[in-house]
Amino acid sequence: MTGLVDRFGRIATDLRVSLTDKCNLRCTYCMPAEGLAWLPREEQLTDDEVGRLIRIGVERLGIQEVRFTGGEPLLRRGLLEIVAAAARLEPRPRLMLTTNGIGLERIAEELRDAGLDRINVSLDTLDPERFRALTRRDRLDDVLRGLEAAASAGLTPVKVNTVLMRGINEDEAPELLKYALTYGYQLRFIEQMPLDAQHQWDRHTMVTADEILAALEPFGLEADPVSRGTAPAETWLVPGHVDAAGEPARVGVIASVTRPFCGDCDRTRLTADGQIRNCLFATEESDLRKLLRAGASDAEIAEAWRVAMRGKRAGHGIDDPSFLQPARPMSAIGG
Ligand code: SAM
Ligand code: SF4
Repeated sequence: MTGLVDRFGRIATDLRVSLTDKCNLRCTYCMPAEGLAWLPREEQLTDDEVGRLIRIGVERLGIQEVRFTGGEPLLRRGLLEIVAAAARLEPRPRLMLTTNGIGLERIAEELRDAGLDRINVSLDTLDPERFRALTRRDRLDDVLRGLEAAASAGLTPVKVNTVLMRGINEDEAPELLKYALTYGYQLRFIEQMPLDAQHQWDRHTMVTADEILAALEPFGLEADPVSRGTAPAETWLVPGHVDAAGEPARVGVIASVTRPFCGDCDRTRLTADGQIRNCLFATEESDLRKLLRAGASDAEIAEAWRVAMRGKRAGHGIDDPSFLQPARPMSAIGG
């Protein structure tokens, strides 16, 4: 099998699938208050089309891990069927999902039964007022209940994704870590990236990995003996704590901006309207939906996907003077 190899020898085995560009929150670093012009229904892949592309990725291109995201993936009607179809593939890929947690309480067990292995829930603050300011919705309790439901359903280790913003929630790193340690979740801080729909990202307001680690100094973090591999998060052990599975507790930082990990990237992305992106920051996409709907064979689609990945750039180039933010925001690419 010829997999998804680029000019620099990186092999993509991790597929991120955006199931919708819609969302029920309006996180300030992601979307404007009024939302965005959502994809017209006919442009969105059907459940069968998504399933077919995942199958081609797994059977013909060496995809080993599929992460469902969005927008908010729990808003996708056919979610359980899409997960179940992916779980039936051979070789069976690992299946993950990134969600804001709203409604997770109701669906966590069904997701597990459909074959989902793990979950990441985004949570930037434990303060209801701040949550409302940050997401423009009053839903903190739903998210916290969703997290607990995911852990009870065994979608473990449950990971919590946090974006810190200067002057808004940057002082909450220690509180969030204490909370995660109490419940046995694994917390990962993500540096804010220039992927907001409003194009308001500013390097000076971004809270950096160094600042996050300085705030966590009282925990006495220790280097993680387990190799990072291709994972985007750099992780540390939190002495004196274990996670829900009895493993040493860990905390992670995804420092996409100040400590880029592009050289080890193993990701390929499929948008809800059937475009392949070889990078979050790519400015070009490859249209697999058009091929699908024109009656292309699995082999033809797989080859178009390989070609799309071959052109992946060495790095995201955020530091280059010529850097251009992609036209699509994170919510439409799939975070
Ligand atoms: N709606 C789901 C959620 O919030 O988890 C899935 C999609 S969201 C785009 C995926 C992740 O991207 C979330 O953890 C979110 O915090 C993060 N994110 C969104 N915009 C970001 C940005 N500009 N920089 C860094 N992370 C961002
Ligand atoms: Fe929605 Fe996730 Fe974007 Fe927040 S980060 S607005 S939850 S897509």
